[in-house]
Amino acid sequence: MADLLRRARLVGDKLKAVFGDNGSEIDMVKAPGRVNLIGEHTDYNDGFVLPVAIDREIIMAAQPREDDEVHLYAVDLDATSSFKLENITKDTDAPWSNYIRGVLLLLGERGFPIRGMNAAFSGDVPLGAGLSSSAALEMASGLMAAVIGRFPIDRVELVKIAQAAENNFVGVNCGIMDQFISGLGKKDHALFLDCRSLDYQLVPLPPMDEYKIVIANTMVERGLVDSAYNERRRQCERGVELLREYLPGIQALRDVSGADFGRYRHHLPAVVAQRCEHVISENERVLESVRALRAEDVEEFGRLMGASHISLRDLYEVSCKELDIMVEVAQGAEGVLGARMTGAGFGGCTVNLVRAAVVDDFVALLKDAYGKKAGIEPEIYICQAEDGAKELKLK
Ligand code: ADP
Ligand code: MG
Repeated sequence: MADLLRRARLVGDKLKAVFGDNGSEIDMVKAPGRVNLIGEHTDYNDGFVLPVAIDREIIMAAQPREDDEVHLYAVDLDATSSFKLENITKDTDAPWSNYIRGVLLLLGERGFPIRGMNAAFSGDVPLGAGLSSSAALEMASGLMAAVIGRFPIDRVELVKIAQAAENNFVGVNCGIMDQFISGLGKKDHALFLDCRSLDYQLVPLPPMDEYKIVIANTMVERGLVDSAYNERRRQCERGVELLREYLPGIQALRDVSGADFGRYRHHLPAVVAQRCEHVISENERVLESVRALRAEDVEEFGRLMGASHISLRDLYEVSCKELDIMVEVAQGAEGVLGARMTGAGFGGCTVNLVRAAVVDDFVALLKDAYGKKAGIEPEIYICQAEDGAKELKLK
């Protein structure tokens, strides 16, 4: 927290240095990145996910303006971008600003009284690593608009607007999980989300002084991800179409039980059956994980993380050599409860649940062994579950 406030002050100083101090009070918000503990490739099948908001976030500082102009400064990129609220268009020279532009455009279209502002922001969510720096930026922007405009907004509505901004304005076909957890996460808790109904429950994590969430970045660009993602989506849809003949009324793989799938899977082409088996079993693993965490059975939760990785690797085929190396090294290490790839796959990060007492040894071992086996220096982030987007009060 002390570090967060120190960084927030720095962002406030940058705001004044770049745009001048217009005398208004400086408003501050933060919005975190996220890691999904289990439930991968289930969101677009109307299924379940179990992410946490992490203690890495975007911090935004802003002062209102009297006109309808928005002036942005991205501290980490040392870049500016500005526009008028009455005419929000995409800025191809400052693509980072489009996340903010999109959120403000949609808020305005839905009648929220957005105001002009000068805003500066900075973050320590690594960009493009699969920890959702984009959702953090959107949620920070949306919350800041509400704080500066002094209007109330339901948190889930803000989440939906942020997702719509990324889908329709930025043009990235993401599910709702990232914005949801950045908006509604809670310290020391995971969030169990039903991606169909958006019902959610906070699930207490094992005490964070005993266990750490360690995120290991393979540093492999998620190259194949777009085409493979779309292909997987189509295969899941095909599975639903074919299974509907035997299970009328199903809308998504979420509606298919393991037992029914076992009965009818032989009607599906082999690859489609494999994809469906991953999704159906992964949904089940999320439900089992919630039960395990509620029962404080950390070992069982770790085992489920491992099973999720194997399913993603062998059935869904979205892992890669580097992710597999990272997971194998972790699973052989002392004090590791569970390890798996997280995110869409083909690179990005793994997530590990590790006993706090040995976390430094674990990080050293992972760096060394992954470095030797993959020939790449990884980045490793020791995290804990934090609160979702909120206003920061400096005084
Ligand atoms: P991810 O969400 O996995 O981190 P994305 O490609 O979806 O990756 O989003 C990353 C983009 O979000 C960056 O390219 C940039 O445009 C924007 N962004 C995120 N964090 C920052 C930041 N601290 N400063 C400027 N832009 C940022
Ligand atoms: Mg993103």
